[in-house]
Amino acid sequence: MNDMTSQRIALFGATGSIGSQTLSVADSLGLSLDVMTAGSRDREFEVQCRKYRPRIAAMADADAAARLRVSLADTDITVYGGSDGVVEAAAETDADAAVIAISGMAACRPMIEASRRCRRICMANKEAIVAAGGYLLAAIRDGGAELLPVDSEHSAIFQSLAGNRKSDVEKLLLTASGGPFYGKKRAELEKLTAKDALAHPTWSMGKKITVDSATLMNKGFEVIEAMHLFSVPASKIEVVIHRESIVHSMVQFRDHAIIAELGVPDMRTAIAYAITYPAREPGCAGSVDWRTLSSLTFGVPDTETFPLLAFAYKAAEAGGTCPAVMSAADEIAVGAFLRGEIGFTDIFDVVMDTVGICGRGGEASFDEIVAADTEARIRAGELSRRIER
Ligand code: NDP
Ligand code: MG
Repeated sequence: MNDMTSQRIALFGATGSIGSQTLSVADSLGLSLDVMTAGSRDREFEVQCRKYRPRIAAMADADAAARLRVSLADTDITVYGGSDGVVEAAAETDADAAVIAISGMAACRPMIEASRRCRRICMANKEAIVAAGGYLLAAIRDGGAELLPVDSEHSAIFQSLAGNRKSDVEKLLLTASGGPFYGKKRAELEKLTAKDALAHPTWSMGKKITVDSATLMNKGFEVIEAMHLFSVPASKIEVVIHRESIVHSMVQFRDHAIIAELGVPDMRTAIAYAITYPAREPGCAGSVDWRTLSSLTFGVPDTETFPLLAFAYKAAEAGGTCPAVMSAADEIAVGAFLRGEIGFTDIFDVVMDTVGICGRGGEASFDEIVAADTEARIRAGELSRRIER
């Protein structure tokens, strides 16, 4: 793994926020692309394919794939279409690492397939891990790949755990910027629009996850993600508000020593580390300027005003289909909010009411989780339309 320039990666979800930042990492590390996939945006994807010349390009939307096949006819890139085409691309890659940057449950099949062929899975997707983490992580292990987290908090925890005994961990400390509405109270939240929510103070991310940061749902997802990735119960995961996003997360050990990873808030550092681990290559992100950084602040989240963080702990404890229903309902509610159909605080109600209507605790099979995801989308859509104004 030493010579990075000979490394080939497979990138699932190339046109997204994490996908495009992964391509920026590929530029700076000199990585080549074996496989690239996207959902439906064929224009953007064509430009990427022409630049990175993957062996295989796949698009989940079959019509978009058909257009791409025509527009790339002058190249030797093989184009697959449909969600089966994305899975087929995963089955045919033998890249050193597969970066899973597809959003939502659509990431499940490609990630399992890629784990059979690639030595390493660099996992950015969180919705699938929240919904069905136990099954997916077992499938990736069975596939024979090692799993490296890309989400910045989980990358920080992974790095902080290095060289320590799992049995010495007292708790994981997940930092949260608090989002753009930190400090606001319920009455103020009710008037907020999508534009307000998309102005994240520190991280530059996709729209859905930016709204999830504003509601603190993202931090709730990350608690569940950490449970699965590090086999730690939710009761040992604490969320700490840290406005500057310099401390990316921490681990507290039983002697009360705390180890943290720090850096500027730029996802490319975590993406690159997941690909190059255990090596560290010259960074494509900037470094912390200690001369201008006057303070690092920490606080406790306001779970009364932002109820979805505390709710995620309850969903995690209930287990079964509850996390999947919560995640699917959130996706529908955030979509409705971004389109201006429901208000910001309505997201809280849609998510919690949908889990109340169709979440089932206890044990759930993978198929039951997938079915619950579908039902939750229908129920959350109905609830959103009822609220619509
Ligand atoms: P985006 O919405 O920006 O990108 C999603 C990508 O997945 C796009 O390439 C999209 O294609 C593709 N896609 C969408 N639907 C499908 C489908 N059904 N089948 C195949 N491909 C599909 O998301 P982000 O990049 O923000 O996030 C990606 C994942 O990483 C999410 O799970 C998110 O929670 C997680 N994450 C993101 C962070 C961030 O900073 N953005 C930080 C940590 C985690 P198209 O463009 O053609 O629609
Ligand atoms: Mg994160």
